[in-house]
Amino acid sequence: MTQDELFKVLVAHCKEYGFIFPSSEIYDGLAAVYDYGQMGVQLKNNIKNYWWEAMTRLHENIVGIDSAIFMHPRIWEASGHVGAFNDPLIDNKDSKKRYRADVLIEDYLGKIEEKIEKEVAKGKKKFGDAFDEAQFRATNPNVLREKAKWDEVHNRYVAAEKANDFAEYRQIIIDCNIVCPISGTCNWTEVRQFNLMFSTSMGSTADGANLIYLRPETAQGIFVNYLNVQKTGRMKIPFGIAQIGKAFRNEIVARQFIFRMREFEQMEMQFFIKPGTELDWFKKWKENRMKWHVNLGMGAENYRFHDHEKLAHYANAATDIEFNFPFGFKELEGIHSRTNFDLGNHQKFSGKKIEYFDPEENTSYTPYVIETSIGVDRMVLAVLSHSYTVEQLENGEERVVMKIPAPLAPIKVAVMPLVKKDGLPELAQKVVDELKYDFSYQYDEKDSIGKRYRRQDAIGTPFCVTVDHDSLNDGCVTVRDRDSMTQQRVKIEDLRAMIEKKVSLTNLLRNL
Ligand code: ATP
Repeated sequence: MTQDELFKVLVAHCKEYGFIFPSSEIYDGLAAVYDYGQMGVQLKNNIKNYWWEAMTRLHENIVGIDSAIFMHPRIWEASGHVGAFNDPLIDNKDSKKRYRADVLIEDYLGKIEEKIEKEVAKGKKKFGDAFDEAQFRATNPNVLREKAKWDEVHNRYVAAEKANDFAEYRQIIIDCNIVCPISGTCNWTEVRQFNLMFSTSMGSTADGANLIYLRPETAQGIFVNYLNVQKTGRMKIPFGIAQIGKAFRNEIVARQFIFRMREFEQMEMQFFIKPGTELDWFKKWKENRMKWHVNLGMGAENYRFHDHEKLAHYANAATDIEFNFPFGFKELEGIHSRTNFDLGNHQKFSGKKIEYFDPEENTSYTPYVIETSIGVDRMVLAVLSHSYTVEQLENGEERVVMKIPAPLAPIKVAVMPLVKKDGLPELAQKVVDELKYDFSYQYDEKDSIGKRYRRQDAIGTPFCVTVDHDSLNDGCVTVRDRDSMTQQRVKIEDLRAMIEKKVSLTNLLRNL
């Protein structure tokens, strides 16, 4: 099976076993939006718990918040999202490819410039030492013709940009006969302004409703609460604020299942530090976050750092943690040294002083920030794609087993009476009562034991506990291990400790 085919099988498996459904499926779905089913939500919650506890419980100086999705619209001006996410997009109707209209025009201007430079180079070669470049540029008919063309298009482009006149963008493209490199045609749609942020309005339209945005990242909710948390929590730098929440981006190219969604969830932590210490902290957080990933036991070789060479204007160091997804190594988490860009801008835009008074040094400064930002859904996909395993059994059959790291498994234990009579269901129910306060469980008495095992394998349940006739006399049950398929007899009163050892989040956290 190719990786592509395997990925399709995984997507189908996720639906069949209640992990992930396409959103609004009975209405034929909604592009790049997904719902988590009864298994998926538990896996997702377990991932979130692992992150939340690792951040807020294992670090005395990191606290969590939960800020609103709706925020003051000025926040997105301060963060740069209103300005930076505005792309004028145009589609070629024949190739169905989408382009940025401004880039098409700029490329066209670039080509004219190249032509002019070629003419100049030709002249230089022809006239040798006697070449007067300024005069050549001012008089050569080819150069003049190209220059006039450049001036005309450039002037129209600058005016259109100033006026935000997208119809004029399109007219320039058509007048210059700029064609799509794929289809070679000039069959263009209208130009549309495209901002990655979803917007809506707050208040009734009659009294001039405010345009507000669905947050494209959770981080800004942390920045604008920096002062609140620092003061009320009496936090001393260095300290961090963690948050888990939904984010929304109107992604243009949205595919690859839950890898790129239009509504997704992020787990972000902003760590506030003294200026000048950022590269040290950046290194520490890189190590810390990689350890968190590798601790799950999905193979250190499946992760790698990808350091950014081209940095965003506000960052002075950035890296991605990439995971080996079925479609190759791709970004799972970003770690960024964001300087004081965000706090500084919020100070400017809000007019409120955002500083930290350092009592030891008796000075005030705007803190620098190291950010760790991971997509919950991408993490779910990493776990699901790594866990999906097809095994050939000795009896010639095949089993599909989700080898989900045990502490993340949606269901920890399945309890099954061998038969539906002779008092076995009653005893099985007693076993359930013994376990249900500590572990998520399923009780299953339908079909053969073999079939029941397969069902649990398909959702990644680490333990199956079978109650049989002997159990009535010896108080023992058979425990079957998901990965090795080995079975052992265990006393009912020892079950809890045995399961706990393997599935406990506490043990996972202890290893960090
Ligand atoms: P990409 O380059 O893949 O678009 P990004 O660099 O824009 O991602 P960030 O803005 O750094 O992503 O967001 C932090 C994290 O949020 C990413 O590492 C990823 O795990 C997650 N994320 C971002 N966009 C999406 C999305 N559309 N769907 C699911 N998760 C996402």
